[in-house]
Amino acid sequence: MKILSAGIQHETNTFSTVLTTLADFRRDSQLGDDFAGGEALRQLYAGTNTIHGGYLLGEQSGDFALEPVLCARAQPAGLVTDEAFDWLVDQVVARFRAAGSADGILLDLHGAMVTQTYDDAEAEIVRRVRAQVDSQLPVIVTLDLHANISAELAAASDMLIGYETYPHVDMEERGVEAAQLMVRIVRDGLRVHQVFRQLPLITLPPKQCTLRSPMRELIGSLRKLKSRPEILSATVAMGFPFADIPNTGVSLVVSADEAATAEAAAAELSDLVWGLRDELQPELVTIETAMQRAGANAPDAGPLIFADGSDNPGGGAPCDGTVALHALVDAGFAGAVVGVLHDPETVAQAHDAGVGATIEARIGGKSDNLHGATLVAPAYVRALNDGQFTHRGPMFHNLAGDMGRMATVVVNQVLIVVAENRRQLLDSEMLRIAGVTPEHARLIVVKSAVHFRGDFERFASEIVDADTPGIHRPDFGCFRFSKLRRPIYPLDELDEL
Ligand SMILES: [Zn+2]
Repeated sequence: MKILSAGIQHETNTFSTVLTTLADFRRDSQLGDDFAGGEALRQLYAGTNTIHGGYLLGEQSGDFALEPVLCARAQPAGLVTDEAFDWLVDQVVARFRAAGSADGILLDLHGAMVTQTYDDAEAEIVRRVRAQVDSQLPVIVTLDLHANISAELAAASDMLIGYETYPHVDMEERGVEAAQLMVRIVRDGLRVHQVFRQLPLITLPPKQCTLRSPMRELIGSLRKLKSRPEILSATVAMGFPFADIPNTGVSLVVSADEAATAEAAAAELSDLVWGLRDELQPELVTIETAMQRAGANAPDAGPLIFADGSDNPGGGAPCDGTVALHALVDAGFAGAVVGVLHDPETVAQAHDAGVGATIEARIGGKSDNLHGATLVAPAYVRALNDGQFTHRGPMFHNLAGDMGRMATVVVNQVLIVVAENRRQLLDSEMLRIAGVTPEHARLIVVKSAVHFRGDFERFASEIVDADTPGIHRPDFGCFRFSKLRRPIYPLDELDEL
């Protein structure tokens, strides 16, 4: 049995004005400008907690041979250009065709990609693959928990399988699940009845976290449901809210061997999620309150973490916001760490000057005027490094990472970690390689909404969701939606499903 696979991933923040180009996908490619497939791709992903890592683990059963042709992803930002989208999908199609006859296709997609032309880019990918490769082959698509799933995508795919967790720590498991179901479809002739439901509900990242209530309990119920023998797979996609498209928001997918079974389970899940709608609204804390609370902690209590989700590059924000940084520097807050800011200019300046030098720094606030002003101050260069690391936390475990060159500078007792690449601080290795031991900090501003919890929660004294401005601010009051389906809770009053 021969199974083809490919991945194209982007989470598109339509409120960002920064287009995502092919150069961005190439910059984030760990397999060269042509996105090498085959052996090189296998070597990168084997043994990692990723979807392709899961496909490769599934292959070890000996039931099928995997032919992975391409994996491309770019850091979340604004609309993907038509040029980038067409080029990448054309490559996937051409490589699938060149691979010759196959028995099935596994697609590793995100589910919240929006291009200049397509609000629903994933449905267009599946449509093109079916039209240009083989319309009869089974296609199983894995999706992020932040997928904004459409009825068209569900109809175009034999099965959709979404991540269960946020932080996304079950990617390898979902990859294995997809591979195993593909084997049952191809070898055993398994018939899949897939039911898709969209809820009139939109939610924000902080409370989508599955380490916290009420999502922790919801995911428990989802797993129980999935363990029933008649259920083949089930997904609760919470959606990526910073996208003004009709399909933004919560959706459910259930697959079973009988249509009625899938329908009943989907109804059950949808009542469960709808019942939690008020508990899914976040509570935001200012940096001033965070400083008070962290200041009152014992010095060795572990850091209070200020999750600056409004400036989360993982959701398309610039990652050079300075609102919390200014407050900490003004206060001279000893033991504070801010990271990792995207600031290639400061990195270059620090590397030119060398460790021990003091530079006239202009830090952050350079991408737009929505995330705070540039901090202009003399900064002491404390450490420099090349930004190469391996993920040691649960998310992307064992996968190589590249921050670009990095620098750690100190301004009025505040440690500021800057990097050439715009990356979400989701693994503490990103600080450790910069000479910062996060356990010893008193307050850490992390440029991440939730993913950091997978690695940082174990040593944090407390975690708060930041009340800062930005294009990823978890507050619907800041966004104007014009294409979103209505009515939708909590933007509209809705009591019943
Ligand atoms: Zn996600």
